[in-house]
Parts: sequence; C-alpha cells; structure tokens
Amino acid sequence: MTLDNIKEEICSAKNIVILTHDVPDGDAIGSSLAMYIGLKQLGKDVDVVIPKYSKTYKFLPFTDEIKEKGRVENYDLAIALDCGDIKRLNGFASYFEYANCKISIDHHEANTMFADYNFVDPTAPACSQILITVLKALKIEITKDIGTCLLTGVITDTGGFKYKSVKPETFEFAAELLSKGVNVSDIYRKVLQSIPVEKFELRKIAINRIELLEDGKISFTYITKKDEEQTKCDDHDGIVEIGRDIEGVEVSIFLREVEEDTYKISLRSNDYVNVSDICLLFNGGGHMRAAGGTINGTFDKVKERIVSECKKHIDTISNE
Ligand code: 5GP
Ligand code: MN
Repeated sequence: MTLDNIKEEICSAKNIVILTHDVPDGDAIGSSLAMYIGLKQLGKDVDVVIPKYSKTYKFLPFTDEIKEKGRVENYDLAIALDCGDIKRLNGFASYFEYANCKISIDHHEANTMFADYNFVDPTAPACSQILITVLKALKIEITKDIGTCLLTGVITDTGGFKYKSVKPETFEFAAELLSKGVNVSDIYRKVLQSIPVEKFELRKIAINRIELLEDGKISFTYITKKDEEQTKCDDHDGIVEIGRDIEGVEVSIFLREVEEDTYKISLRSNDYVNVSDICLLFNGGGHMRAAGGTINGTFDKVKERIVSECKKHIDTISNE
C-alpha cells in the first residue's frame, strides 16, 4: 500500500526536503509546515523550501524556518505537498528530481502522478486533510501547532467550510483539531477576513474591471504588472472568487499578467462546469471548480481564447 511505502521511506530517510506549488496558498503552506513540524518531531534533518509567499500566512508557526533554497543537492527524500504537477514545484523541481526517493501527497483532480509514491485523493477538500492520515500513520503527535497549520489549509481551500468539497469527515477533522486547542476564529479572521490596504486597492482595480459576458454566465477581469507596481501588491488571492459570487455567473475568469504577452489564468465555476478540463488546454489543471493555467499572446487574443473556451464548455453542458 502506498501509505506503508511512504511510512517506510520517511522512517529510513535522514535528510528530507518539503516542496509545494508556486504562488502558494494556505493549503500549500499549511500542509508544508505541518509536515515540517511533524518530521522535526521524528528527529529528521528537514528543510521546507518556499521561496515566496503571501504575508497573510506569516502568523503560522515555524514560518521563520522556511528556506528560500535547499541546502543539499541530493536529498534522501523529497516530499511534494498540494502540487498536482512537477512543473509547479516553485521552480525547484530539481530538488525533487535529484532526490533518491520522491513522494507526492495531494488532492488535485488532474494530478500527473509524478512521484515514486503518490498519495492522492481528489475527493479531499484540501491536502491538509489527507496529510493528517499520513502524520498519524507515522505516530506523529498532532500538536496545536500542527493543527493550526492543517486547519489553515482546510479553511483556505474550502472558503471557510462552504464549498461542495466539504464532507462529514471535514468537520470531524476540524473538531479533532479544535480539541487540541486550535483557534478556528483566529485562523478564519487572519486568512479570510483581514485584507491589507494594498491588497484592497488591487482588488478594487479588479472589481472595477469586471465584465459580465455571455448573458451574465461569464465574469471576466484582469490585473496587469503595472497595477501591481502601482498598488505595491502582488497578492491577487480571492479576486477570482468575487466574479463567481455574482448571481447567474457559471464561470469566473481572472487573468494576471506575469510578463509581456504571458498571462496566468484563474478559473472558478459555480456548479457544473469542470474548469480543470478547461485549464488542461492551457498548460495547467486543478480541481473541478477551481483551476489555473497559463496562456501566451496579446491581451485581446488571450481574453478571446479563454472566454470562447469557457463559453464552449458552458454551452456543451447546457445542451446536454
Ligand atoms: P488559483 O486560481 O487559486 O491560482 O488555483 C486554483 C487551483 O488550480 C489550485 O488548486 C491550484 O493549485 C491549481 N492551479 C493553478 N494554476 C495551475 C497550473 O498552472 N497548473 C496546475 N496543474 N494547477 C494549477
Ligand atoms: Mn490545496
């Protein structure tokens, strides 16, 4: 069984590197830190490598020990968390590739099974929820610190327990962590409610640009590099969800200029459109109702391509 193999590999490894996807969210950072704290508990020589992340997550325990780079060329073991594709490993895929053994723990529907051992459950609402099973199998004590990281992952990836991915086990998991002293309202406020002023300014720009297309079934907005410079903010987390919340919208599209003629796409759907399928066409992937990818081209061309692909998917389903 994969879990037995994972247990064995972790037990025998001395130096371990933990990696996660680029532009890491609360689940990526929360599961990486929970794994880090757990492996430290086992006395492992472990690095958690996350080059850049939003200051929203600075409150998490042990963020001071996050490294921007690995220390070793060939780790005994590399563990990728919350990452569906090796290309998204923060530009640090080489630490993964050169490691003697590679493990992936994840919940992305379009996971490419890129590790030696892949512990992947696409029905789980967050990687953090899968991780607790692994930590328990390793007899790691679920401390308040570990619980805070895990619950942050679940709260981020479920929008505060409101997405359809939430299951009875999600609440059982939350109840268990609360009983360890984890402060759910504090996490909720820090992760979902409090926005730095510069992030609010960036959000305002995006909101002002929202267009409702295709009879209001598609919401579209974007942010340029200039906007990020002007607001001194590159934290666009949450922008794409604003469009999805508008009544009648099936798919929300958010484009972010990463360099000239290259745009990162974020898609969200409300009910039945599988946006992961759409993003697979654009070098990306994700989940049924939240996915991302990248498109090259001028803004107008990129906008036209992504809008028409979303329209096609909405029409196909409406005609079924
Ligand atoms: P977001 O829109 O918040 O950046 O990402 C939504 C979901 O899609 C997340 O689970 C994220 O990991 C996944 N995702 C975003 N961009 C990509 C991408 O370029 N490739 C893949 N495989 N997944 C992505
Ligand atoms: Mn996740």
